[in-house]
Amino acid sequence: MTTAASLDSLKSKLREIHHLHDAAAVLSWDQETYMPAGSGGIRAEQLATLQTLAHNQFVSPEVESLLGTFIDLDTGSILPNQETTLDDTAQALLRETWRDFSRARKLPSAFVNKLERECSLAQQIWQEARKTNDFQRFLPNLERLVRLKQQEAEYLGYIESPYNALLDTFEPGSTVAQLRPLFAELRTHLIRLLGQIRNSPVQPNTNLLTQSFDTSKQVDFGRLVLKQMGYNFQRGRLDLSAHPFTTAFHPTDARVTTRVFEHDMPSCLFSCIHEGGHGLYEQGLSPQQYGTPLGEAISLGIHESQSRLWENSVGRSQAFWKYYYPKLQETFPEQLGAVQADEFYLAINQVVPSLIRVEADELTYNLHIMVRFEIELEVIEGRVEVDELPEIWNAKIQEYLGVTPSNDAEGVLQDVHWSFGAFGYFPTYTLGNLYAAMLFQQAKKDMADLEQNIGQGNFLPLKSWLNDHVHKWGRQYSASDLIQRVTGQALTSEPFVKDLEEKFSNLYQLSTENSS
Ligand code: ZN
Repeated sequence: MTTAASLDSLKSKLREIHHLHDAAAVLSWDQETYMPAGSGGIRAEQLATLQTLAHNQFVSPEVESLLGTFIDLDTGSILPNQETTLDDTAQALLRETWRDFSRARKLPSAFVNKLERECSLAQQIWQEARKTNDFQRFLPNLERLVRLKQQEAEYLGYIESPYNALLDTFEPGSTVAQLRPLFAELRTHLIRLLGQIRNSPVQPNTNLLTQSFDTSKQVDFGRLVLKQMGYNFQRGRLDLSAHPFTTAFHPTDARVTTRVFEHDMPSCLFSCIHEGGHGLYEQGLSPQQYGTPLGEAISLGIHESQSRLWENSVGRSQAFWKYYYPKLQETFPEQLGAVQADEFYLAINQVVPSLIRVEADELTYNLHIMVRFEIELEVIEGRVEVDELPEIWNAKIQEYLGVTPSNDAEGVLQDVHWSFGAFGYFPTYTLGNLYAAMLFQQAKKDMADLEQNIGQGNFLPLKSWLNDHVHKWGRQYSASDLIQRVTGQALTSEPFVKDLEEKFSNLYQLSTENSS
């Protein structure tokens, strides 16, 4: 076979395998949206079958032999006789396929099976434990999961910390050694800013957001914003689910969900904008590269940067509300007719330390992440026993946020992540915030009229900029390469801190002497 023919065979094999993943993803989407409650058991089996089929096809001798035509399967380097015939795109495709292939092959299938069963079991037990506020009930499952994840890290291999192997699953290339100083510096700024905000005489009136808001009008408003962001409803849809999420089966079918509460207006609106950012990323991936790594998002951190950029840099900005607030007032004249735009803008940007991560504001959110990062790192490195977690959790939340959970349901049991074995996932949320600020800063430099456009409800220049600079590349570049390429800088918390300082100094009338 010629080089081109082998590459085409590999791509079409990868696409075929992707069809199985996509079929599974449709079933998962259905499970979260419309599936009758009674069919949970069989759905789990259907999903497991599809995923096993996909896994087996991926680690098959056929893929091995196609990949081996181009790559040294042990090291991942392109074979010397192929280097000159393959362009950068083809080399990136092979490099990333090899990464997935070698990771998949390192995990014995008996282990993967055991881990999947434990995760599915632990998730059910976690739900009950959280409901009844009973950490002891979840403890044996969590202990087994931690041991399995430590085992997984051994199979995958790592440098310095087993945590790196797990982190690498979600944020390729990221390490503890990189995160520690980054988070430490960020933390200093956040704590300082939080202290200033708490001492400010300005405090928002958030009661205006918890009035009664018709839920179908809320969803319609969210849909309107999504449309104007450039989210294509011919290639996606908006549905309701308990936890908002985005899922995609192809750039022509990238779906988002939201949730809606009568007495919590921002929830539906900002979920729509947040998931819309994820949805635009999926709709902006290359259809030509569908099924290959170059048709996939880079990492969870970069994915989250897209949602946070729209949710926070755009959706919580003054320019955005200059355009939308009159429209929101028209939609809810009774509730907001007499509320000034400034008052509303302050209320949706309230900063207040709280116990629950998913309800946290733009600033304190990252402190929640740091607490989780530090704890899971110690657990995976074996320096802390799982039964000590509630106590350690409460102490750290007190230290970072100055609040103490009154029970484990609002403490260590609040997040689903550990129950499905997702250790090393949390840091990607904060990385997303930092990437978002860096990208938005660059977008402003590249487009002098960006804020003016946002103030007129014209989001398409920003969407196109993201399409060109982030979305269309898939995994051609690593997260750090992409950020360097687009912004000319390595990952830093500076733009994020600067944005927060500017915004909250104005909103809370902070004296600028103390800020750096
Ligand atoms: Zn997200």
